[in-house]
Amino acid sequence: MRTLISNGTIVTTEGSSVADVLVDGETIALIGADLGGAGITADETIDASGKYVIPGAIDVHTHMELPFGGTFAKDTFETGTRAAAFGGTTTIVDFAVQSRGASLREGLDAWHAKAEGNAVADYGFHMIMSDVNDETLKEMDQLVAEGVPDFKLFTAYPGVFYSDDGAIFRAMQQTAKNGGLIMMHAENGIAIDIVANQTADSGMTDPYYHGVARYSIFEGEATNRVIRLAEAAGVPVYIVHLSSRDALNEVRAARDRGAMAFAETCPQYLFLSLEDMKNGFEGAKFVCSPPLRPKDHWDDLWTGLIKDDLQLVATDHCPFDFEGQKELGRGDFRKVPNGLPGVEDRVDLLHDGGVVGGRITRERWVELISTAPARLFGMYPRKGTVSVGADADLVVYDPNRRRTISAGTHHMDVDYSCYEGREVRGASDVVLSRGSVIVRNGEFTGKKGAGRFIKRSTADAARLA
Ligand SMILES: [Zn+2]
Repeated sequence: MRTLISNGTIVTTEGSSVADVLVDGETIALIGADLGGAGITADETIDASGKYVIPGAIDVHTHMELPFGGTFAKDTFETGTRAAAFGGTTTIVDFAVQSRGASLREGLDAWHAKAEGNAVADYGFHMIMSDVNDETLKEMDQLVAEGVPDFKLFTAYPGVFYSDDGAIFRAMQQTAKNGGLIMMHAENGIAIDIVANQTADSGMTDPYYHGVARYSIFEGEATNRVIRLAEAAGVPVYIVHLSSRDALNEVRAARDRGAMAFAETCPQYLFLSLEDMKNGFEGAKFVCSPPLRPKDHWDDLWTGLIKDDLQLVATDHCPFDFEGQKELGRGDFRKVPNGLPGVEDRVDLLHDGGVVGGRITRERWVELISTAPARLFGMYPRKGTVSVGADADLVVYDPNRRRTISAGTHHMDVDYSCYEGREVRGASDVVLSRGSVIVRNGEFTGKKGAGRFIKRSTADAARLA
C-alpha cells in the first residue's frame, strides 16, 4: 500500500516547507516537491494543501487502567490509544506498575497483557518501582535490555508508591551502570500528608484543599533533592509533571550548573489553575498531584518551555469518572482518586495556547509534542520526525479549524472534560499509524490490536545533552 500526502507544509523541529510525502508500507519512502508530477504513483492520495504534515505526537506519560485509590483509571489501552489518535497522538509510553512485594517482571507482564491485542497505535512502557531491593535492582538491567529503560520512583504517596532517599539513590546507582533513566514524581509526600491531615482535621474537606495542602515549596524541595541525588550518582534524572515555578527554578539552576536534569510539564499546569478546584465537590474533577497551581505560575512554565528548561509536554492522562469514582472522595479530599483525562487534547491545546497564542513557533510545538519525547525516550529517528525511513506515523493537521472541547464529543472513556466549552484553533484531520489511516475527518478507521510494543533504546540523547 502506497499513500501520497501531497502539498502539505511539513513541519519539523528544523523548519517548515511545502512538499509531498510518499508512504510505502509502514514507513516514509520519499519526500520531495511535486512527487506526483515526477511520475510517482500511489494507491491513495491525501490532499494536504493548506495543512501541516507533522510527525505523530508522542505522549510519554499515561496511565491506562491504573489501579489507584481503590479504583482503576477508566481508559483501557483500546479506548485510550483511540482517543489519543483522534488528538494526533500516535504513540504513548505508559507506566507499568510493580506492586509492593511483587517482581518488576510480574508488573511488566501484566501491562503487556493489558496492551497487547488492544492498543490501536504503538506503545511503550516505563516501570514504576515500588520496592528497591537486591532482586529488583538486578531486574532493572534485564528491563533495560528488553526496551523498558526508564524507572519511575516517588517521593510522594507514603505507604503506596513512596521511596525513601536511600532507595532512590540505590536505583540511581543501578541506572548509572545500565544506561537507564530515573523518572521522579517529586513532591515531599511526608510533609504534604502532615498538612493534608491537619487541613482535613480542621474541617476543610472540599477538593479545593487538596490543592491548598500540597504546597509548591514541597515540590521545589523534592525536585532539588532528587536532582542532587542524581548528580551524586552521576546519572540523568527526569522530573515528571512539573507544575510550579518552585520546581522549575530548581531544574533551571541544575541545568545551569551542567547537571543532567530534564523535566516535562502538562497541559493542566499551563491552562488550568487552583481556581478551577473551587465550587464545592465539583473541584474533584481537577484533583491531581501535583495539584493545579495559582495562575501566576503559568508564565514561568511557558518561559521554561521557550528556554528549554522544560523539554516537553506530556499529559499524565489518568481518567476517573466524576460519577462513582471521583465521588469516592465526597467529604474527604484525601480520598478523591488523583488524576485527570487529557491524552486527546494535548496537541490542540499546545497549538492553540502556544502557536496561535504567539508563545512558541510551530517548529517548537512539534518538538515539544513529538521530537523531544522521541529523543529523550529512545525512539528517535524511528519516531518523532518526518524523514525517509521513519515510521509513517503522520498527522495532517489543520491549523485553522476551530473546535470546542467537550465530554459530549471527546473519545476518552470518562464522563467529564477539564476543558468543557473551551474553543481551540487547530485539529487533526487525518492520522496515520505506521502507514495506515486510523483517523479520518472525525471517524476512527483503525483497528483494535494494531498497535505494537516499541522496544526503546537507552536515553543517550539525555546523557549527551
Ligand atoms: Zn503520572
